[in-house]
Amino acid sequence: MTSTETTRPELLGALRDAVQAGMPTTIADLSRLVRIPSVSWAAFDPTHVSESADAVAGLVRGLGVFDTVEVSRASIGDTQTLGQPAVLATRAARNGRPTILLYAHHDVQPPGHDEDWESSPFEPTVRGDRLYGRGAADDKAGVLSHIAAIRALVETVGSDFDLGLAVFIEGEEEFGSRSFSNFLDQHRRELAADVIVVADSDNWDIHTPALTVGLRGNVTFRLTVRTLEHASHSGMYGGAVPDAMLATIRLLSTLHNEDGSVAVEGLTSREAETPDYSEEKLWHEAGLVDGVTSIGSGPILGRIWSKPAITVTGIDAPTVANASNTLAPVVSVRISARIAPGQQSGEAFAALEKHLLANAPFGAQIEIDDVDQGNGFLVDTSGWAVSEVKTAMTEAWGADVVEMGVGGSIPFIAELVSVFPAAQILVTGVEDPGTRAHSPNESLHLGVFQRAILSEALLLARLNERS
Ligand SMILES: [Zn+2]
Repeated sequence: MTSTETTRPELLGALRDAVQAGMPTTIADLSRLVRIPSVSWAAFDPTHVSESADAVAGLVRGLGVFDTVEVSRASIGDTQTLGQPAVLATRAARNGRPTILLYAHHDVQPPGHDEDWESSPFEPTVRGDRLYGRGAADDKAGVLSHIAAIRALVETVGSDFDLGLAVFIEGEEEFGSRSFSNFLDQHRRELAADVIVVADSDNWDIHTPALTVGLRGNVTFRLTVRTLEHASHSGMYGGAVPDAMLATIRLLSTLHNEDGSVAVEGLTSREAETPDYSEEKLWHEAGLVDGVTSIGSGPILGRIWSKPAITVTGIDAPTVANASNTLAPVVSVRISARIAPGQQSGEAFAALEKHLLANAPFGAQIEIDDVDQGNGFLVDTSGWAVSEVKTAMTEAWGADVVEMGVGGSIPFIAELVSVFPAAQILVTGVEDPGTRAHSPNESLHLGVFQRAILSEALLLARLNERS
């Protein structure tokens, strides 16, 4: 089969019917997973993540096509501490067919405050075309898209197919994938595949599928600015003594140019074509308030996909309620930087550190610690798997595929690529611009969900016939 060949109409029709008929079961299974509050962050009860792993393993076992299904953990770094449980299933390829690894994660972000949700975060609720709940999209719908696609394949071609399959459902993606590299090391043989599908990304809109071909990297750290040994009365010394707040404000203001673009020398940008995206669309989708304009320069999507960004995401300083007339001796902030794909995160961190040290005002003492970083990623779009998935998506959605960048980071993809350099990586997803992953009122568009499942079922069926 050549890559541009369309799927046989009987096969396409049978898969379409199987996916459609399976939707009520798929949504019920998804709802069952959403009810398990599998937040992987350290401060949350880990038994829910275990319960969630067991539920996913049960669904995978129920498919009846795998040689092995296990719930497994790996240690974090070189410690004895174990990471959260992942589900791993394998099935050997036969008759020269390829092996495809399907990735998603079953853990979720914390829900935040219940009162910000229109319906309870762990009570899946359908309103209009959407299913609301924490993890309803990110990424329990990714988990179910794999399961429902395999079900549709079995329904259509039987369970005795030749395609090799591996399923890897991670349990701590939202908490930095801390045991991921040890897990890869320990299961290198089971995870080896010709094609890896990472179902944890976005679509262009609810009518248009997207393949994610670029992801930014990230660097985050704590910056502490100190100017005084102890606090002093602002009336006594103010005007002659620099407080840490003043020094911090001045230092942070050097990170951006007047137009809001990043002003740190050594952070690189990429040149890449991007689809049109208007200022007005940004205004609506991102929820800017009246009178606020965008920042940066050049095409809007280029700023988000191919240029760096720096955000102050937290600040430790006296609260307004506790504000007294004192000069603050020390202020800490959390800095979160997004790095253009193509730049190594270590190199980006070095540029940021150099900039902050060089721009410390009034000789303030600067300390940087608690550094976390991950590399970005650029997909090689020349491989046959990219053509296969684009054909499958086009047929399932009835619309052309947008090759998109994503401003966020999925650092483990860079790790996957380094462990399995020969595998072709396809970053797909069930999200759309209305999903609000990680935020209150996260939701899944059920039409997008069905089209994403059909796309994947078609991809599996096409690879099953590929020699
Ligand atoms: Zn995710």
